[in-house]
Amino acid sequence: MDDCIFCKIVKGEIPCSKVYEDNHVIAFLDIAPASKGHTLIVPKEHYEIIPNVPNALLEKTIDVVKKIGCALLKENDGFNVMQNNRKAAEQLVPHVHFHVIPRNNGDGLDVAKWKSSKYAEGEMEEMLAKLKDNMR
Ligand code: AMP
Ligand code: ZN
Repeated sequence: MDDCIFCKIVKGEIPCSKVYEDNHVIAFLDIAPASKGHTLIVPKEHYEIIPNVPNALLEKTIDVVKKIGCALLKENDGFNVMQNNRKAAEQLVPHVHFHVIPRNNGDGLDVAKWKSSKYAEGEMEEMLAKLKDNMR
């Protein structure tokens, strides 16, 4: 992907604050962090969204998510892992990546908050049937 910013980072064409790199995965600091240490973990090969990524590569990517999370826990109380698929889910960079966001007690960050909704009568069963059907 010639115009993909993360592919350019992978190729070294634009700089990044690199935290980790191996043959398949790179991790670097997010330039606009939700909190200090916010890291992006990116498979080097270009795939747009999770369903496109081969399982073996996804596993290697998650290994790095785990490594970064472990490191961040030495200095922070917790962390969130976020991963957005497609514009509707607020994916801005169309190259699969995981956000690892350091959290601390009382930091008041809004990253993992959503307004809860409710199922109408029968809607949950309908949803369940549809989802199970679509998994076939
Ligand atoms: P998303 O909305 O999940 O696609 O998030 C994309 C993230 O990439 C945002 O948090 C941006 O701040 C971050 N980002 C965009 N360009 C760069 C860059 N050149 N270096 C580091 N992070 C970047
Ligand atoms: Zn890319």
